[in-house]
Amino acid sequence: MTFLDYAPAPESTSILNLKKSYGLFIGGEFIDGHGGSFATVSPSTETTITQVAMATEADVDAAVRAARKAFSGTWSKMPGSERAKYLFRIARIIQERSRELAVAESLDNGKPIRETRDVDIPLVAAWFFYYAGWADKLEYAGLGPAPRALGVAGQIIPWNFPLLMLAWKIAPALAAGNTVVLKPAETTPLTALLFAEICQQADLPPGVVNIVTGAGATGAALVAHPDVNKIAFTGSTAVGRGIAQGLAGTPTRVTLELGGKGANIVFDDAAIDQAIEGIVSGIFFNQGHVCCAGSRLLVQENIHDDVVARLQKRLSTLRLGDPLDKNTDIGAVNSKAQLQRITELANSGDSEGADRWSAPCELPAKGFWFPPTLFTGVQTSHRIAREEIFGPVLSILTFRTPDEAVAKANNTPYGLSAGIWTEKASRMLAIADKLRAGVIWANTFNKFDPASPFGGYKESGYGREGGKHGLAGYLESSSPKGGLK
Ligand code: NAP
Ligand code: MG
Repeated sequence: MTFLDYAPAPESTSILNLKKSYGLFIGGEFIDGHGGSFATVSPSTETTITQVAMATEADVDAAVRAARKAFSGTWSKMPGSERAKYLFRIARIIQERSRELAVAESLDNGKPIRETRDVDIPLVAAWFFYYAGWADKLEYAGLGPAPRALGVAGQIIPWNFPLLMLAWKIAPALAAGNTVVLKPAETTPLTALLFAEICQQADLPPGVVNIVTGAGATGAALVAHPDVNKIAFTGSTAVGRGIAQGLAGTPTRVTLELGGKGANIVFDDAAIDQAIEGIVSGIFFNQGHVCCAGSRLLVQENIHDDVVARLQKRLSTLRLGDPLDKNTDIGAVNSKAQLQRITELANSGDSEGADRWSAPCELPAKGFWFPPTLFTGVQTSHRIAREEIFGPVLSILTFRTPDEAVAKANNTPYGLSAGIWTEKASRMLAIADKLRAGVIWANTFNKFDPASPFGGYKESGYGREGGKHGLAGYLESSSPKGGLK
């Protein structure tokens, strides 16, 4: 029964002033590439938003040359305090244009405006402010008295947090004195192109930031380019593994932020209603397109039925639909290909014997949608307990003792995130100590801060982004032993 109906509350797109087509951003200007163009579409309506250029190997080469020229000519010679001014300026322009960026991101990615407006874009600005503050203090980063920039960084990002992943990559690289060539994901290039405009608006010296739009081959050309000093990649473990193999034995430095299958562990003494909210934000935030999602719920056996009943009640209140509507909780899945992957994995849950429950919501006729879904009766051997679904699907398993919870949580090739819900601080610390995950939240989930390092264990990758640890990926240590102290 519906007690209360919401009137539509769509955010207007009139704030966007998009061009009909976008070139590549190389040497401070938008230029035509050599590979033609492709459409970026809105996954909630399947309509074309604009056309963007497909960068070829020659275009990637031009971008790397522009970045090299800017590195040698201006950026590496500029004092950190001057670099900081540009980064502060970029951060302020992001704040000024935040509504426009939030609308563009929701349109291109399909995620709700409530998230782009309140999470993605504020964090993007926070990342630039934070690293702007580091630019003139690099000697305090723990890498010796005079750490040096690496040179040209090639950066490749996925589609799930397009502008935020750009900020995670570009802000520390620039603060540390590197220049960059960044390739956004094929399905979400829009906000990277608006960011290129912001670089122009901030008078950033030409070539310090270069944006090459395209598909996987464009990324591969960037990885293979001999004049790139560092590759920073965020994406799937399969592609990350290929990049690491391709660069093995070369001087190019690599950091990899890959997939995850985070365990969210709920003990019977936890504040259950608070835990329910944390479980929901852990897996249904951003349609579950989150590398550190709490996609495996480990719930203590004696509270399993209660937790599942409360989750079903809570999920029934989530509103799925137009990403630009301010009341929307669950937006569109980013692409048809991703919807097919989610559907295939969920079907494997059925065929391997788990029980599916989906929230009773109507899916729009156009676009790519998947309802918030729970699987109970999941065994550790099931594919839905082992493989990253990267969608709004929660696999629920049970445990009886803390040791069993730890063993099950660590029983994964990944190691990016985990959550612990308990009233006992001693148990929180003891369990956190035994979990092999880069980020562990206690009585909360999916909280991000630029001062906090983020990264993985095992097949979730290596290297850290965020905090002063994030600077280490873009600096040559000047201390004889190197590394963070
Ligand atoms: P993906 O296929 O690996 O793509 C990531 C990026 O790499 C995209 O820009 C992609 O371009 C590009 N790419 C594809 N093939 C390439 C190649 N051979 N060489 C160089 N670049 C290549 O990953 P996805 O499916 O888009 O993203 C989802 C994955 O990212 C998930 O596994 C998720 O867990 C992970 N992720 C991790 C983090 C983290 O911080 N650990 C954060 C977010 C996401 P196209 O888009 O044009 O194909
Ligand atoms: Mg798109």
